Amino acid sequence: MFTTLSDRLSETFKALRGKGRLSEADIDATAREIRLALLEADVALPVVKDFIAAVKERARGEEVSQALNPAQQVVKIVNEELVGILGGETRRLTFAKTPPTVIMLAGLQGSGKTTLAAKLALWLKDQGKSPLLVAADLQRPNAVNQLQVNGERAGVTVFAPQPGNGVGDPVAVSREGVAEARRTLHDVVIIDTAGRLGIDEELMRQAADIRDAVTPDEILFVVDAMIGQDAVNTAQAFLDGVGYDGVVLTKLDGDARGGAALSIAKMTGKPVMFASAGEKLTDFDLFHPDRMASRILD
Ligand code: GDP
Repeated sequence: MFTTLSDRLSETFKALRGKGRLSEADIDATAREIRLALLEADVALPVVKDFIAAVKERARGEEVSQALNPAQQVVKIVNEELVGILGGETRRLTFAKTPPTVIMLAGLQGSGKTTLAAKLALWLKDQGKSPLLVAADLQRPNAVNQLQVNGERAGVTVFAPQPGNGVGDPVAVSREGVAEARRTLHDVVIIDTAGRLGIDEELMRQAADIRDAVTPDEILFVVDAMIGQDAVNTAQAFLDGVGYDGVVLTKLDGDARGGAALSIAKMTGKPVMFASAGEKLTDFDLFHPDRMASRILD
């Protein structure tokens, strides 16, 4: 991820090295190169436009520091603007004042949602929480079983539909799951909901029904970072259809250009909260915009 973008940006900055002062032509040429690098990385056009406008304005402006040469100054500006489009500050989960905190996961099938549910549960467990996983993805035949297997690996209890416990009804299972957490004193409930291969109305309605039934403290939209610009379209559709508080990017270990990661926070106005970068349950952490920007500019 980001290899091409990193390489292109570092080439661009190299061209500025040794320059005593940046002319208007230098700034234009640099901005053009950065623009191309971002477009090639599949960053959404409106994000690229704002980014370039900000970099140009700041490079021309008064931000002249004695401590930095012009090339370093441009790197600093690009770094800060990258942190900005990635969402600025690291955003953390908000826990309910009265437990359990209810976290609902939504996203397309194949986005890595079920795996992510177990990763998040393990991460919370490592922080001293007592999570309960709720298997409300009743669409994909193997999803409940997969969650049970992953839950076992994570050492986290999974609440799955039982006979008489709302088999086939994800809303009932979700509601029961929250009630079970209350009974058994789990302080966080993670609800894995159904995804489809594409966005459809029934999927949105089902997710919205679950949302209305359990009023989650956090709704997280899970998206595969490998799908590029499509991630932004899907993110917008879920924002309109279900709404969410934050985004989880999965498969950041993949060989993608990084456009989704760089576009989604700015395009949706919702922060990326977590990043998943591998198939192991521990390949998961909070998303830190500043660290991601540093990685790109490394
Ligand atoms: P769901 O349909 O959204 O529940 O997706 P799954 O959790 O079943 O994941 C789909 C596939 O993606 C599985 O083969 C997972 O092992 C894989 N996967 C999930 N997260 C990651 C990740 O961060 N990196 C990689 N490389 N693969 C992942």
